[in-house]
Amino acid sequence: MENTPLIIVLPFVILAFMLGYFLGRKKNDSNDSASSYLLSSDYFKGLNYLLNEQTDKAIDVFVGMLEVGEETVDTHISLGNLYRQRGEVEQAIKIHQNVIAKPSLSLAKRNDALYELARDFMHAGLLDRAENLFQALLQKQSHVPSALKYLLSIYEQEHDWSEAIITAKKLESAINKSYSLQVAHFYCELALANYQSGNSKEALKLVKKALGTDKQSVRASILEGEIHHKLGNCKAATRAYRRVEQQDPLLISEVLEPLIHCYKELGNNKEVKTYLEYVLNKYGGITSILLYAEQIQSRVDDKTAALFIVESLRKKPSLRGLSSLIDMSLDFTKGTAHDNLLILQEITNKLQENKPVYQCTQCGFHVKSMYWNCPSCKSWSSIKPIQGIEGE
Ligand SMILES: [Zn+2]
Repeated sequence: MENTPLIIVLPFVILAFMLGYFLGRKKNDSNDSASSYLLSSDYFKGLNYLLNEQTDKAIDVFVGMLEVGEETVDTHISLGNLYRQRGEVEQAIKIHQNVIAKPSLSLAKRNDALYELARDFMHAGLLDRAENLFQALLQKQSHVPSALKYLLSIYEQEHDWSEAIITAKKLESAINKSYSLQVAHFYCELALANYQSGNSKEALKLVKKALGTDKQSVRASILEGEIHHKLGNCKAATRAYRRVEQQDPLLISEVLEPLIHCYKELGNNKEVKTYLEYVLNKYGGITSILLYAEQIQSRVDDKTAALFIVESLRKKPSLRGLSSLIDMSLDFTKGTAHDNLLILQEITNKLQENKPVYQCTQCGFHVKSMYWNCPSCKSWSSIKPIQGIEGE
């Protein structure tokens, strides 16, 4: 604890004064002067440790000398919390368990200590034990909103989506705040698990529940489109994919490619062209530009497609667009021009290497592929394609 910053030691100093206050009262109430003298001696020993920045030893002395009682229980609980904040969870657990072990405590104080002990277990990664305590608090109708929030976090971490749905719904009524966005994701998680294990019918039912909970759920629409597509029901798939534009235009780039596949499987090439032109004119993202260029390439030729990309890049510069233009141009250039393009191709590939394509709108975390739950801040639906020259 050498050179401990004042800000870390300060809470313990305050705690020492609180202890001094309780001990002073204890001394006045007591007739046993020898015992009071002993306590005072320990108290000053503890203070001495604090002044020498030996916080750990000081705490051991203070905890050892102060009995857990109705008057001192808050001090013990705070001390345990300080340990947890310092990352010393084992000590925190020990102190909070010591509080709970006292049979004379009032129900309210015991519940306070139980709640803090549950938080200690969360910090220690002992999710099962934390879950049991938070559930016990719910049964006692104590610390309900906080216990529900922690339980929701536990079920999310454990991927127990059915329990997460039940808990989020309880939380909604406890704090009068909508959790429909999260609940829709939990239904999608269940749908995905069913789909991956071959139960498409149940998966579609769960997707419907997700949309019934949150009609703006892009994830539910994409999943519904994917399942219908896989089942060969392309008409239903196109309906699901096209819903995304109304739900969140920022994510339209996620469905353009599968949508084109569906229209092609339906033999509706006219709709491919019409829809891409509609998206291009309204949103103009690089994904729609490149997909439209591919259509020109297959219907007309490489040069016309390359010219279309050049025109589009003039209006909206894009690294991905430039890279595609180079790839396309390599097919119809020869000699020095071809060699120069190869150098440019290498440069643009390097520029694109490890470049994130998506970013969390909540915490700013960058990722290369789409996540519905941010790997960093754990927010749902917060990851979006990056806009601008290096993105969409
Ligand atoms: Zn985030």
